[in-house]
Amino acid sequence: MAQTPPGSGPVAAGGLLEQLDPEQRAVAEALHGPVCVLAGAGTGKTRAITYRIAYGVATGEYIPSQVLAVTFTQRAAGEMRGRLRQLGAGGVQARTFHAAALRQLQYFWPKAVGGPNPQLIDSKIPLVSEAVRRLRLHAERAELRDLAGEIEWAKSTQVVADDYAGAAAKALRTPPRDAAEVAKVYAEYESAKRDRNAIDFEDVLLLTIGIMEDRPDIAATVRNQYRYFTVDEYQDVNPLQQRLLDCWLGDRADVCVVGDASQTIYSFTGADPRYLLDFADRFDDPTMVKLVRDYRSTPQVVALANALLDRAEGRAAKARVQLIAQRADGPRPKFAEHPDAETEAREVAREIKKLVDAGVRLSEIAVLYRINAQSEEYEQAFSDVGVPYILRGVERFFERPEVREAIQVWLRGAAKARSDNASDALPGLGAGGPGKDEGEAEGESLASEVRAIFSSHGWTPLAPKGAGRLRDRWESLAALVSLAEEYGRTHPDAGLDRFSAELRERADAQHAPTVEGVTLSTFHAAKGLEWDAVFLVGMTEGMMPITYAETPEQIEEERRLLYVGVTRARERLFLSWALARSPGGRASRSPSRFLDGLRGGVGRDHREGAAGAVIRGGGAGRRRGSGSSADTEDRPRRIVEPITCRVCHRSLIDAAERKIGRCETCPSDLDPELFEALREWRSGQAKKQKLPAYCVFTDATLTAIGESCPATPAALTRIAGVGKAKADRYGEEVLGIIAGSQPGAGPQADTDTGR
Ligand code: ATP
Ligand code: MG
Repeated sequence: MAQTPPGSGPVAAGGLLEQLDPEQRAVAEALHGPVCVLAGAGTGKTRAITYRIAYGVATGEYIPSQVLAVTFTQRAAGEMRGRLRQLGAGGVQARTFHAAALRQLQYFWPKAVGGPNPQLIDSKIPLVSEAVRRLRLHAERAELRDLAGEIEWAKSTQVVADDYAGAAAKALRTPPRDAAEVAKVYAEYESAKRDRNAIDFEDVLLLTIGIMEDRPDIAATVRNQYRYFTVDEYQDVNPLQQRLLDCWLGDRADVCVVGDASQTIYSFTGADPRYLLDFADRFDDPTMVKLVRDYRSTPQVVALANALLDRAEGRAAKARVQLIAQRADGPRPKFAEHPDAETEAREVAREIKKLVDAGVRLSEIAVLYRINAQSEEYEQAFSDVGVPYILRGVERFFERPEVREAIQVWLRGAAKARSDNASDALPGLGAGGPGKDEGEAEGESLASEVRAIFSSHGWTPLAPKGAGRLRDRWESLAALVSLAEEYGRTHPDAGLDRFSAELRERADAQHAPTVEGVTLSTFHAAKGLEWDAVFLVGMTEGMMPITYAETPEQIEEERRLLYVGVTRARERLFLSWALARSPGGRASRSPSRFLDGLRGGVGRDHREGAAGAVIRGGGAGRRRGSGSSADTEDRPRRIVEPITCRVCHRSLIDAAERKIGRCETCPSDLDPELFEALREWRSGQAKKQKLPAYCVFTDATLTAIGESCPATPAALTRIAGVGKAKADRYGEEVLGIIAGSQPGAGPQADTDTGR
C-alpha cells in the first residue's frame, strides 16, 4: 500500500482509511472508548495510531488540542509529530510522559503550591554524590551512576527508601553495593534534594500526580484540556507513568494503547508489560485488535523472528503473535562465524561496501550490538575502509569520558613517567619500557603494562557484577586492553608511548564528522526503527544473552532484545559472532544459545535448523587451509608452549591465564597476607627506583608469584613475567618474603607451576 505523500493541509478522512488494512482500519475507526492493540513488530502499530488520530481530526470527532499522544523517547515523540503534521493533524500534542507532565507541573505550580518553581535537575549524580559524602561513604563516578540508576528504578516502581532492600531482592536486582547501603543513599539523596528545593525526573511525575490527586479543581482543568489519550510502545510503561495516565483519565476511558509484549526490553528500569496484557481486565468492553501482518520485513526475516519466539517462555511469550509476512521474498538471513572480533568487524565493513556498491544507501544500513563498548571495533573497521557511520544514543568510543581519561591522563602520564625515568631504568627495561619479559606471550608486554596502569586506577581484570554504568566503564577499558594486546602483537617493539600515539591517531580518524552514514547502535536504542539491511553482531554467549542475565526472566528479556534486533530489518539480515576476543586469542566463545537450531549449521554446534544461508568467517590473510569446514579447526593459532592450569591442569592458551598459571575461573589459592607483603615490597622498590610499580612486577606476575610460592631462584625465574634479569635483581628479597610467610613449614617446594 502506498504511503501518504508529505503535506500539511487537511487530509480527506476516507483517503486515510484507504491506506490501512482492515484491522488497522478497525483501530482508526474506534475513536472513542478504550482501545488496545496487541501486535507484533512491524505490523503497523505506530502507523495505526497515527492514522487513528489523523482520522479523528479529519472527521471532526477530535479537536486537535484535546488529543495527547504519549511515547517514550523524545525522538519517537518528534517522529510522531512529524507524521501527524503530514497527515493534517499538526495541532495534536505528541510528547513523552515526562515532557507532558513537566508542562502541566510548571503551569499549575504557582496555584497549587506557590513560591518559586523547584529547580529540575537533569542528572541525579551530583546529589547522589553529595548523599554518599554525607554518609561518609565512598563511590567512584561509575558507581554513582549505578546508584542513581537504582534510585530511578525504585522511584519508577514507587518503592520508597525504607522498602528498597526488600523490593530489590524480590525483583532479583543486583544492587551496585549492599542493598541496605543503597537504601541509605537513596534516603539521603531525597533529603539533599529537598534541602535545595530541587526535583528530579520522577518527581515531575510524582508531583503532577500529587497535585491532581489533592486538587480536584486542577484535575478537572487538566481533564477538560485533554480528552483523548494514545500511548505507543505501551509494553514499556512503568508503574509511575501508569499512575499518571490513570490520573489524566480520571473515570473516563478514551485511551488507546498499542504495544508488543515480545518487545519488552526495559524491565530492568521498572517497565511492566502487565499493564498491556491486562488491559482488558481494567476496562469494560474495550476494543481489542490484533495485528499480525508484518509490512516491514521479508518472509525470510519474519520466519527467523517467529522461530526465535517459538522457544520464548514466560508471560510475554504466551501473548506473542505469530507474524505473517506481507512483502515479497528477499535474501535469506546470513550467519557468519569469525575467528576473532576484529575479523568480524572487518568482514561486516566489507559486506557493507558490497551493499553500497549494489545501490543500498548508507542510511539504510545499521549495525546493532548489545553493549556500547562493542562500537569501537566497528568505528575502527569503518574508519579503516572509509565507511561513514553515525552513532546513535551514545558518545563515540573515543569521546567517552573513561576512554579519554585513560588515554589522555593515565597512559600518557605513564609513558611520560617512563621516559623521565629512562636514564635510571633497570637493566633489561630499556628506555622504551619494561620490554618483553621472558615467558610472556607475544604482544603481552604492552597489554600487561596497560592492564597494570588501569589496575592502579581501580580497574580489575574481572568484570564487575551486574549491569549499569560501572559495567559500561569496565567494558570500555577492557576494549582498550584488547587494543593493546592486538597492537603489541603486531608491533612487538612498541612501548606505551607509541601505543598512546596510535590511540590518539585512531581517535582523530574517527572524529571526522559525517552526514550520511551507517547507523551504529545498541539493540535498545534501535527500538521502533527500521533499515533495509541490519547486521546483528557479537552474537555470542555472554553478549547475547549478556553475562549478567542470570535468572530465567532476565534471559527471556535478552531473547526479546534479540527479537527487537531481528525485526528491525526490512530485507537483509546478517548475524555474526567471533570465537575469540582478539586475533590469535583463545577461542573461548560460543554462538548465542538463541541461535541454536536457527543458524543453518554455521558454528561448532551443528544442528538441524531453519533456513539460513551460510557464510563463514573470513579472517582474510590469517586463515590456514581452504576453509571447507565450519568448525574451529582451520582457525589460526599462535604457536605457544604448553602451559597447564595448576589447579585443573587444562592447557592454557589465553595470555593472561598463562601468566597467572591457572584458568581465570579456577579458584585462587593466593594467601592475601603474602600478597599484601609482596605488594608492599614492590611499592618500596618502585619508590626507591622512582619507577611505576608495575615496572617492578605487574599485578598478574605478583599474583603468580604469590600463588605458586617458588622456593628457589630457578622456580622464580620460570614464572611468566619474571625472567632472569628480574630474578637476579629481586630474587633474594622475594624468596625471603615467601619463606617468611610460611613459618614452620618453610616455603612450598619447587613444585608444579605447570611449566
Ligand atoms: P514496531 O513494533 O517495530 O514499533 P510497528 O508495529 O509500530 O513496529 P510501524 O513502524 O508502524 O510498525 O510499521 C512498520 C512498517 O510497515 C513501516 O514502514 C510502515 O510504513 C509499514 N506499514 C505498516 N502498515 C502498512 C500498510 N497497511 N501498508 C503499507 N505499509 C505499511
Ligand atoms: Mg512502532
